[in-house]
Amino acid sequence: MRRESSARGGHEEGVVRDPEVGLCASCRHARTVDTPRSRFWLCARSATDPRYPKYPRLPVLECPGYEPAEAETPGGKPGVAAD
Ligand code: SF4
Repeated sequence: MRRESSARGGHEEGVVRDPEVGLCASCRHARTVDTPRSRFWLCARSATDPRYPKYPRLPVLECPGYEPAEAETPGGKPGVAAD
């Protein structure tokens, strides 16, 4: 008999998980740049901190600059309408 492990448990509320992207997928500093053929993940920290590459090598598994995208201050700036 084959035992199946259910230890993956990768669901956390409000956190986007993409194993091909890693931490950037749920980081507030990440921006996506879409082209007809692919999607690039840009690290906005790179604009002010040379320790961060503009286009990190994916998947990013560890990053000292990671901050969850959901950690926004309540009552902060209104979001820009995504269209
Ligand atoms: S700070 Fe780290 S995790 Fe966040 S976008 Fe940049 S490289 Fe990715």
